[in-house]
Amino acid sequence: MARYGFVFNVERCNGCYACFLACKDEYTDSCHRPTCAATTEGVNLIKVSEVEYGTGSKVKVDYVHTICQQCANPPCMAKYPDQIYKRPDGIVIIDPEKAKGNKEMLKACPYGAIVWNEKANLPQKCTMCAHMLDAGEKVTRCSEVCPNQALLFGDLDDPNSEISKYVKEHKDELVKLKPEYGTEPAHYYRHLPAPFVAGEVVCGDTDECCKGAKVTLTCEECGSVFTTETDFLGDFEIRRLPVNKTFKLVIKADGYKTKELSVRTMAAVNLGEIFLEKA
Ligand code: SF4
Ligand code: SF4
Repeated sequence: MARYGFVFNVERCNGCYACFLACKDEYTDSCHRPTCAATTEGVNLIKVSEVEYGTGSKVKVDYVHTICQQCANPPCMAKYPDQIYKRPDGIVIIDPEKAKGNKEMLKACPYGAIVWNEKANLPQKCTMCAHMLDAGEKVTRCSEVCPNQALLFGDLDDPNSEISKYVKEHKDELVKLKPEYGTEPAHYYRHLPAPFVAGEVVCGDTDECCKGAKVTLTCEECGSVFTTETDFLGDFEIRRLPVNKTFKLVIKADGYKTKELSVRTMAAVNLGEIFLEKA
């Protein structure tokens, strides 16, 4: 038996919303009972959230999918065992007959993945296109249309599936959404928004951009080391840093005194201009 899941590669998503529109096309006014009743306008089973972070000229935008995580330990099902069930392939289904009228169910999902269909008087959520899988399809509508391979879907228990190979290859970079909830989500995320440290190094004696300066960031708590060099504009940027850590930043350039700064990664940090003193 398969066990289905997604890998969402945030770095590959450009926010085109093709997945969102394909989902709307598949479900709006189209009934797929017993796994999902028809949705209506304004009922979105996929949410693509725009996340903006950084300051000044160093601002980044990422797009993060927040949909039902098909939890192995789903609190929604624990709360409403008579209205929600889990299939052997891991897909969690809200029974469209038994859940009718239960708007309270929206509060049972810590991810906010259950939405309310006012017209049908029904709580609804992503079913990973269970009706298509049951008909022999190997993909969901959203993963099928993504032009950037940002949504990888498949059988996590099949060692030969593309998704299993991907998970094996990138296991150190993959995370689950809010693992602290203890829900054991099926889906993985890669490159979720994370703090970065950026700045612009300037030669103090000439006010010129300092190209090729060596920048080293060392975490004072975990010992991790990140390195880069400034570009022709004197700019540097070190991405995907751990949250809430203190780093020592060291900048070295030939003919200049070494510069040291302390940086805390509470959020993305733009240090602006950093002037080096002539040695
Ligand atoms: S993400 Fe929410 S709706 Fe989906 S299985 Fe987990 S608790 Fe239930
Ligand atoms: S279709 Fe792909 S690139 Fe477009 S929003 Fe969805 S995941 Fe992102």
